[in-house]
Amino acid sequence: MQLTITKADQLKSKPDDSKLGFGTTFTDHMFNMDYNLEKGWHNPRIESYGSIDLDPSTMMLHYGQGVFEGLKAYKTGSGAVQLFRPKDNFKRLNRSSRSMCIPEVDEAFGLHALKQLITIEKDWVPSAPETSLYIRPTIIATDPFLGVRASHTYRFFIILSPVGAYYAEGFNPVKIWVTKDHVRAVRGGIGEAKTPGNYAASLFAGEDANKKGYAQVLWLDGVEQKYVEEVGSMNIFFVINDELITPMLNGSILPGITRDSVISLAKIWNVKIAERQISIDEVMDANDSGKLSEIFGSGTAAVISPVGELKYGDRVISIGDGKVGPMANKFYKAITDIQYGKAEDPKGWIEPVS
Ligand SMILES: *Cc1c(COP(=O)(O)O)cnc(C)c1O
Repeated sequence: MQLTITKADQLKSKPDDSKLGFGTTFTDHMFNMDYNLEKGWHNPRIESYGSIDLDPSTMMLHYGQGVFEGLKAYKTGSGAVQLFRPKDNFKRLNRSSRSMCIPEVDEAFGLHALKQLITIEKDWVPSAPETSLYIRPTIIATDPFLGVRASHTYRFFIILSPVGAYYAEGFNPVKIWVTKDHVRAVRGGIGEAKTPGNYAASLFAGEDANKKGYAQVLWLDGVEQKYVEEVGSMNIFFVINDELITPMLNGSILPGITRDSVISLAKIWNVKIAERQISIDEVMDANDSGKLSEIFGSGTAAVISPVGELKYGDRVISIGDGKVGPMANKFYKAITDIQYGKAEDPKGWIEPVS
């Protein structure tokens, strides 16, 4: 497939690197590609960033048939731009697509197009400490049709957004609410797909937790509401008796790339690691017997998000005296050092752009 590149007539002024937030500013160009039954995926193009003209009956808007990804490009000390495990994002995009009846894209071509796009937008990759260029590949169902079935046409697009340091106010632990009233996903459902519906399903509980002064929701399984699944839109890790424990992938948990990176590094470091079911009761018991030393979330946006307080029913427990634990610190530093090219990449995770 031939990628067409049409440069924007006018370029926007770039924001100040030190004042970036998350997801508010977008670059000059975007990638677009279309799908129909006759041609399959076709017309891949890089063009001006701009709105997409959609009929009000567009299927995505009504039935949520869509998938997305989230990854980042990082600028190293020498000014090079690099990606962290992008092949895994394209692989997961296709995996999500399969569960949503969306046609798969050519992963190698997708990565090629992304690298081209980033090369064109190289000056948009911020260089202030811990800033990055956030990348959002998305596929939406575009048939103008109100019947319920899989769409016959799709749009795949990639947009880029320079983002600020996640921990601009310091690497501090957050307070977490364990919800018993809501579930995010169920086994047999679409929990393991990165699809908008899972985010819609998480909003009510998230807002509720925020109102009560908690940053995120800890999700229990959707069947028995007994086993821990995820925290907010991150995977979750516990340190109990010096062993790292994370819920095993069971169909309703999103297979995070950061989760996998933590597990891989733990293995390299000979840290005991278990992927298994862990009940909320086991977590509370471990706390009561003094064996629970850390809890942290993992995801692309925050990398590692330490948990300092957990509320479950009438109980509020403080983890590690509300301070960031050594494991959370070690994983955060190791992963970000690899991403910014400050440390050796032990697993071939880095993909240079330019
Ligand atoms: C994206 C996502 C994660 C984290 O995945 P990463 O690949 O580590 O960014 C975890 N949980 C949910 C629900 C997600 O959507």
